[in-house]
Amino acid sequence: MIKTIMNEEEMKRVLMRIAYEILEHNKGVKNLVLIGIHTGGAYLAERLKNIISHTEAQTPLLGTLDINLYRDDWTRLTYQPVLKKTNIPFSVNEKNIILVDDVIFTGRTIRAAMDAIMDFGRPQKIEVAVLIDRNHRELPIMTNYVGLYVPTAKEERIDVFLSEKDGKDEVILSRE
Ligand code: 5GP
Ligand code: MG
Repeated sequence: MIKTIMNEEEMKRVLMRIAYEILEHNKGVKNLVLIGIHTGGAYLAERLKNIISHTEAQTPLLGTLDINLYRDDWTRLTYQPVLKKTNIPFSVNEKNIILVDDVIFTGRTIRAAMDAIMDFGRPQKIEVAVLIDRNHRELPIMTNYVGLYVPTAKEERIDVFLSEKDGKDEVILSRE
């Protein structure tokens, strides 16, 4: 079973909505920092930054975190996210940090991202923006901005195609 759950037009609108929600909730760009989780989240954070800088006079700061899953297959239940590389060339002190990822599942990656940010300093707050929330959290981690909530079965997977790496924008739900 394969089903398109978000097409190019829909992804564009979803990212515009999230960008505006972030601006509304954070009262503009002041102190705003977007941190994309490599690789899908990093592209999405860049897109959000571009949308925001088109409507506001200021551009939000942009950073990335490379968090790899210890097991090479993220469908396994016991994987551990491990921080590989960081690119946050500014202070996070007193900042409103938005962690951006393509998919949230158990919440373990966001937890690892929060740990990494806390090692850098003392942000004012940390929020989470994701394109797809596929449910099945194993930690008490919430999402503040969600493109699409898709309560998947555990054996289902979400494929996120982004033009920057795949030549097209599309989200597909598939089941073996
Ligand atoms: P979590 O740590 O919340 O279990 O999983 C989130 C991380 O694993 C994200 O960085 C995300 O890219 C990846 N991930 C988890 N489930 C899926 C999925 O169904 N599809 C895709 N594309 N990535 C997933
Ligand atoms: Mg990822």
